[in-house]
Amino acid sequence: MAELTEKIKSLKKEKKAVILAHCYQNAEIDEVADFVGDSLYLSQMAAKTDADIIIFAGVYFMAQTAKILSPDKKVLLPRMEAGCAMADMINLAQLREFKAKHPDIPAVCYINSTAEVKSECDICCTSSNALKIVESLGAEKVLFLPDKYLGKWVESKLSGVEVITYDGCCPVHHRIVAEDILHIKKLYPEAKVLTHPECRREVTELSDYVGSTTGIMKFAKENSARQFVIATEKGVIDRLRRDCPDKTFIPVKENLVCESMKCTTLEDIYKALVEEKYEINVDRALSEKALLCIDRMLEVSK
Ligand code: SF4
Repeated sequence: MAELTEKIKSLKKEKKAVILAHCYQNAEIDEVADFVGDSLYLSQMAAKTDADIIIFAGVYFMAQTAKILSPDKKVLLPRMEAGCAMADMINLAQLREFKAKHPDIPAVCYINSTAEVKSECDICCTSSNALKIVESLGAEKVLFLPDKYLGKWVESKLSGVEVITYDGCCPVHHRIVAEDILHIKKLYPEAKVLTHPECRREVTELSDYVGSTTGIMKFAKENSARQFVIATEKGVIDRLRRDCPDKTFIPVKENLVCESMKCTTLEDIYKALVEEKYEINVDRALSEKALLCIDRMLEVSK
């Protein structure tokens, strides 16, 4: 593995490539990555570099976002089958049907959506800024997609806004139920429960903190508690255990793994660099419309 890591490092220099690793990736991918973090942060960082090639160790919609923000760079997804089940729950036809059922209501799409879907929404959001984005619209009703749980969590935090959600969710976070939290709280009564807002409402209601991946990691690092129950993908726990060896991190339940996120290997990254595949392209006109949706979010969340 060390030999492969070195080969990737020298090849990425030679090809003027940057490697992006989403927080859910395994440690060996971090070793070769130039940036590690949430999907939007990664695309923004890559856009600021003078790299010719961006390799995204993540899932398809993330590589699309990187391409939208860096249209002149070559964006590669090492595993073409690495998709996001949540993003794939809504396509353009389904979005149009959803909007037609609720006319004249602004549509907010979660960053976990395809470029096609973003291109026909009013504004985008991340799990970090969703509250601020929905609030900024000043509307009584807002359409939210694809994640019904994030949408309903936002609604619960804002007064006077009805959030009409599309029926989508992340299958990984959907597996966590209230009983899991109640059970683990009995086992670890001192532990703080940190939860991603892609979880069910019954789960977020029982949590001490609800926030994005970055928010969860920041909270765990800065809080004085010694034990934390983590209700999100396993990669976050692995990362926290590496970063804070003096604290205890307990998974809310076993095997909370996003298989798509974990399917990218070092071999795939090496192959992507050598063969320059799989290239992700987004139609220019569509990309410009999707960029507007992202830019509106960035303007509000400044
Ligand atoms: S964890 Fe859920 S939202 Fe994230 S990439 Fe996997 S399926 Fe999509």
